[in-house]
Amino acid sequence: MEIPIKCSVIIVGAGISGIMAAKVLAENGVDDVLILEAADRIGGRIRKEDFGGVTVELGAGWIAGVGGKQPNPVWELARHSDLRTCLSDYSNARYNIYDHSGKIFPSGVAAQSYQKAVESAIQKLRKQESSPDVDASLLAETASAPKTPIELAIDFILHDFEMAEVEPISTYVDFGDREFLVADERGYEHLLYKMAETFLFTTEDGEISDSRLKLNKVVRELQHSRNGVSVKTEDGSVFDAHYVILSVSIGVLQSHLISFLPPLPRWKTEAISNCDIMVYTKVFLKFPHKFWPCGPEKEFFVYAHERRGYYTFWQHMENAYPGSNILVVTLTNGESKRIEAQSDQETLAEAMEVLRNMFGHDIPDAMDILVPRWWNNRFQRGSYSNYPIYTNHQLVGDIKAPVGRIFFTGEHTSEKFSGYVHGGYLSGIDTTKALLEEMRRGKEWKNESQTFRIEPLIALSGSIQQDAVSNLHKFDIPRQLFLHTSNLGAPKAIL
Ligand SMILES: Cc1cc2nc3c(=O)[nH]c(=O)nc-3n(C[C@H](O)[C@H](O)[C@H](O)COP(=O)(O)OP(=O)(O)OC[C@H]3O[C@@H](n4cnc5c(N)ncnc54)[C@H](O)[C@@H]3O)c2cc1C
Repeated sequence: MEIPIKCSVIIVGAGISGIMAAKVLAENGVDDVLILEAADRIGGRIRKEDFGGVTVELGAGWIAGVGGKQPNPVWELARHSDLRTCLSDYSNARYNIYDHSGKIFPSGVAAQSYQKAVESAIQKLRKQESSPDVDASLLAETASAPKTPIELAIDFILHDFEMAEVEPISTYVDFGDREFLVADERGYEHLLYKMAETFLFTTEDGEISDSRLKLNKVVRELQHSRNGVSVKTEDGSVFDAHYVILSVSIGVLQSHLISFLPPLPRWKTEAISNCDIMVYTKVFLKFPHKFWPCGPEKEFFVYAHERRGYYTFWQHMENAYPGSNILVVTLTNGESKRIEAQSDQETLAEAMEVLRNMFGHDIPDAMDILVPRWWNNRFQRGSYSNYPIYTNHQLVGDIKAPVGRIFFTGEHTSEKFSGYVHGGYLSGIDTTKALLEEMRRGKEWKNESQTFRIEPLIALSGSIQQDAVSNLHKFDIPRQLFLHTSNLGAPKAIL
């Protein structure tokens, strides 16, 4: 039985935003914190696994936004750790769209279909702009809807990965438009361990041994009042704090895993339920040998099927890990949920049928398959937040706004960079800065043995990206293929 001791701040969740929040608190002299993490590891949606002899990333795989005028903080961390990465050039996918009989569509046909998809997306955007309250799926039906397999494939790529991000695309504008795939056996999560070791006790082999981090603590209730917050976990423990930083995903907030006493106000619950969640699944397949084309401009390829999003987007891992003989296929939303609900053997059979359509019947069976289940993971309930295209600033503002002594952080609270790792990182700073200001006003931060240090806070504020522009982006897959509209003008990227 844990004896409740009131600490300054409890951070719920040890993903990148929660770890960053704890780091900023420590840098500002607040180190009587507790980090309660439901899983048996830190990292959240940054998660590696050994598969087929290499390290694969089940969650975030890319560092997006590199090469621009400002350094992406996550890219800076990666550079300092010498994280191994590979540049991804999605634009090559345009040359590699296969039909069901294994023929590659001529580039002229692909370009025409792409143009049609772009026009339909622009139409849809215009309609959405003029009637933002109308359901986007209804608008899609009125636009010239994609019908043929190639149109459906391109539409899937445009909408499910980029969602017609409206310029300016903050990640590209601020940090650059290059994207690097993490291919390092230490995993993307290595960056979190490096951050954690600056303020948590860590063993020589990199394990966190600090009692302020408590794993396997599933928070189920936050009882809050003017005096503080009492946090109850599934195993019956109770922890008390002056403040809580809640970094769980928007999916978890929507799922009611955590109850609030008193309940959250209506403006908050409405904002939470108005944010969409994207489910994004990378399925990994290991083969005895390669049978797909390799070499320049062959890393990404597309399968055009009459069912939208059916094993559409493929990547081989030869650039990341030569000789690994691994393919990755990405599914989203409905298809993700569908395969999460079936056995991996069924998914394997479906994927093999698609591959045989593309590459012939003589290809070998996959020796192994890995299917992450982000939707059914009760500590995630989806992959990342997906704001409506014409997000009003109020929505993100309400999602981010504290309720009494509960402060909210995580990628979904970042208006400029939601959905990205750097969005989580910067939101951790942003939220903690707001909390420190509140603590300074309320004086809870003062404790005999500590002196509040104002300098780091001031220093931080210069680097914090103030979220100003709403945008939608979805990544990993072919950004260069995607629709970039400038005030709904001519698309910039043409297949
Ligand atoms: C498949 C996939 C692909 C992605 N690809 C990319 C990419 O290529 N590039 C990119 O930049 N971003 C990508 N992202 C998004 C990126 O991973 C996230 O934006 C970022 O990691 C979110 O960090 P976070 O701290 O906000 O949330 P999380 O990482 O989700 O951290 C929240 C933590 O809270 C914990 N938690 C939940 N409920 C409780 C509870 N009740 N009690 C205690 N703890 C709890 C969770 O276990 C988790 O550790 C991807 C995500 C997914 C899933």
